Amino acid sequence: MDLDKLRENIEAGHAAIHELCSGKRRWTMSIPAEPDRDQDLVLTRALEAGTQAIDRLQRVETALRQLINDHLDTCDDTCEAAEIARAALEGGSE
Ligand SMILES: [Zn+2]
Repeated sequence: MDLDKLRENIEAGHAAIHELCSGKRRWTMSIPAEPDRDQDLVLTRALEAGTQAIDRLQRVETALRQLINDHLDTCDDTCEAAEIARAALEGGSE
């Protein structure tokens, strides 16, 4: 799933929590389920989106570490590209 959709699911989860906490809506679990309204489903999707984003980031980090190592086989420790990649791995947050 693309990152914009994952973010959208997380934001929908935040909105659901806000609506519940502010009293704007009560907790509902419909039969049949309403995936875009039932908070249990909205919040489950938000949590799953977080997990999917972490899984994806871990795959990217693994690939980047491998790329750095492979690159340094033919380059040296002063390589600016490798330094940028290392900084991205270390920083990781906004
Ligand atoms: Zn290099």
